Amino acid sequence: MQLLEAKLHKIDRHNYRSYTSMRGEYHFVDFDFYIDTVQSDPFAPASRVRARRAWSLTDLEWLREKSSVYQCAARDFIARFFADLSQQDNAVLIDMPGQVILDRTAVVFDDEGIELRFRINLPADGRTIIAKRTMNLLTFHLPKMIRRATIARELPMEELKAHCEAAEDQVALRAQLKEHKLLAFVADGSILPRLAGNSDLPLPNAVPFTSPDNLAVELEAPHKGKIRGMGIPEGITLIVGGGFHGKSTLLSAIERSVYDHIPGDGREYVVTNYNAAKIRAEDGRCVHNVDLSPYISNLPMGKDTTAFTSQNASGSTSQASWLQESIEAGAEALLIDEDTSASNFMIRDERMQALICKDDEPITPLVDRIALLRDQHDISVMLVMGGSGDYLDVADTVIQMHNYEAVDVTDKAREVVASHPTRRKAEGTEVIVRPRTRQINRSALQALLEEGKFRIQVKDKTSLRFGREYVDLQALEQVAHPSQLLAIGYLWFQLAQLKGWEKVPARAFANMLHDNWADMMPKYGEMSKPRVIEVMAVLNRMRKAEFK
Ligand code: ADP
Ligand code: MG
Repeated sequence: MQLLEAKLHKIDRHNYRSYTSMRGEYHFVDFDFYIDTVQSDPFAPASRVRARRAWSLTDLEWLREKSSVYQCAARDFIARFFADLSQQDNAVLIDMPGQVILDRTAVVFDDEGIELRFRINLPADGRTIIAKRTMNLLTFHLPKMIRRATIARELPMEELKAHCEAAEDQVALRAQLKEHKLLAFVADGSILPRLAGNSDLPLPNAVPFTSPDNLAVELEAPHKGKIRGMGIPEGITLIVGGGFHGKSTLLSAIERSVYDHIPGDGREYVVTNYNAAKIRAEDGRCVHNVDLSPYISNLPMGKDTTAFTSQNASGSTSQASWLQESIEAGAEALLIDEDTSASNFMIRDERMQALICKDDEPITPLVDRIALLRDQHDISVMLVMGGSGDYLDVADTVIQMHNYEAVDVTDKAREVVASHPTRRKAEGTEVIVRPRTRQINRSALQALLEEGKFRIQVKDKTSLRFGREYVDLQALEQVAHPSQLLAIGYLWFQLAQLKGWEKVPARAFANMLHDNWADMMPKYGEMSKPRVIEVMAVLNRMRKAEFK
């Protein structure tokens, strides 16, 4: 602390650039403080700092005995608590976490203690350093905040425990899905709708979810005990029902529940297979060398669909690409909503089949492939489809949403199929639907990074800057937090650098995303763990990526 004071004293009234001399480490009575990067002017991205407190000074050592899930949630909780505190001081910046508990690098537990990683805007009067003000921030306000976030008696311990137990419960419930042959579980009493299209907060006074008796299962959560809810079986599940009855709301809750939610969210006992991928149409996106032939063939002008490439895909080709890419990335289930699908990719009815002969239609709709996905590859599909009955023939389970209530109409659907037999013809059912595995051109990735001065930047959930390119991610609905995108950028960076690397990118990322994934991230920075599915989805949208 004397060092800090002395250094600051030296640069009092100097130009802002003199702050660079502040880089280094400082020892306070009860914690260490590191200034890792210093901003070049008051408007540049804030300076990156870390604070470390030894376990013996936290009274939180018992956390080290807990499961990795518990510890991960405790780190998430401390990051939230510190973010709340930072709201009171506009010089201190740390990412605001949302409704999801993530494995974040903003708070690290290691053998010695707890480390907080955040940013500060070093204060100034115009461009002039006022040492007294900086001193006040760094030696008075900040230490107080750091103490509050890292000492047991200062933290709301009951909340912290509830947060960690909710995470352990969700992980345990998710782990029970496979043995019950379920794709997802939605507990009775869950609140699924959100406050608004641009808010992830629960809708007040919403109708709580209740399971229909036929689909009800009871799972065991270690803290909450037995929980009853709706089990959505593996296989093909159709969500039907009138418009505005809550179909998309159910699907959205399920697609977001690949992650654990915080207590009070309403979805804290909704869990979905971690490898479920939401896919949709996304015209205009790029596609690199993807095998679309199970879905699309005989394109006009003889364009090849076993290795389809485009910088401007159509609705149907973009959706078919996303489907194939998801399987390549390891998806075990696909989630699809009619609201965001290309209708010609989803269905072609009997009349259209009569009017347009098969040779003139490049697309084989999903309805003719969905059973192959299930039977050849064990891939489950959950589909919201209120507008066409063609899927009733292939569905294993049919759930109707009626006034926000789920009703099991599987038997009724079977009767309809028997009494209204379809006259549409199945189209070519003897293909293999597995996509070819691609390799990535790593030196192209490296070159892009060099050309863009190694820049990796993230502002929000909708884009990632890698080198010079801004990758458009607006269609990705399962990115939980921008910090995941930052991690994705650095994972690519790692892939571009690694010696002795795995050429199949999905496999390379799966290897990298094991327990020690955070060690690959820069020490300063707030990242959180992404799924391989998103790492690949983002890479697939990079216009200059090259896949072989
Ligand atoms: P659908 O896909 O069937 O047309 P949505 O899922 O989009 O319907 O839901 C329509 C509206 O109803 C949305 O504004 C949604 O927030 C609201 N909603 C959905 N479920 C509930 C619920 N359980 N309680 C209250 N409102 C709900
Ligand atoms: Mg809808």
